[in-house]
Amino acid sequence: MKEKRRGMLLVVSGPSGTGKGTLCERLLRSDPTIKFGISSTTRKAREGEIDGVHYRFIDDAQFDAMLSEDAFLEHATVHGHRYGTPRMQVEQAIEQGDNILLDIDPQGALNVMDKMPETVSIFILPPSYAALRERLHTRNTDDPEEILKRLSNAYGEVRLLKHYQYALVNDQLDQAFSRLSAIILAEKQRTTRYFPEIYDE
Ligand code: ADP
Ligand code: 5GP
Repeated sequence: MKEKRRGMLLVVSGPSGTGKGTLCERLLRSDPTIKFGISSTTRKAREGEIDGVHYRFIDDAQFDAMLSEDAFLEHATVHGHRYGTPRMQVEQAIEQGDNILLDIDPQGALNVMDKMPETVSIFILPPSYAALRERLHTRNTDDPEEILKRLSNAYGEVRLLKHYQYALVNDQLDQAFSRLSAIILAEKQRTTRYFPEIYDE
């Protein structure tokens, strides 16, 4: 039997520090059918972040130019920085039958769901706000003021959980990862994406 598949758009959101990046990296390592959608941002690169791998780090003028060319599928200002999903990479991936993963905030995610209703949307929750605070401090990539901003924005973000198809709590990483993998495994088998072709011998 031959199989044909249409590309799947996966959107993952959740408060800063909840573990989206950690789970996404693990997913990308374990599933070669999934590509990461590289966002453009005006945020400064953190130590260890690579331009063109984690983000495309651009300035305000470049962001404005992309906006005027309608180059973003969605864009938003999050925690005071601008972020956008380049439209081309998503459209090309889906067309080619590749699965693409976006790690974007709820404002952007809701826009994408609106434009592309077949999107698989997953919200990742921390076990508690205290754990979130601890993770942001342990990660040690943001200054205290930035951490405070991210923590206070978390409450509003969690309120948008009801708009997502799936939710999972990232308490134990291994358990959260197996739940994420299970969602993706099931979604790949949807009849709307999966076309088994049966030939008579
Ligand atoms: P996000 O991408 O959502 O901002 P990260 O993936 O950067 O979050 O994770 C924030 C911090 O929490 C990192 O230091 C990461 O190693 C840690 N972390 C991720 N998942 C867990 C977990 N299940 N338990 C404890 N720490 C975690
Ligand atoms: P960080 O600065 O920690 O990498 O990301 C901060 C927030 O911006 C996270 O919620 C992340 O999901 C979101 N984000 C990253 N890229 C995009 C994007 O292209 N669009 C939107 N709307 N949010 C994004």
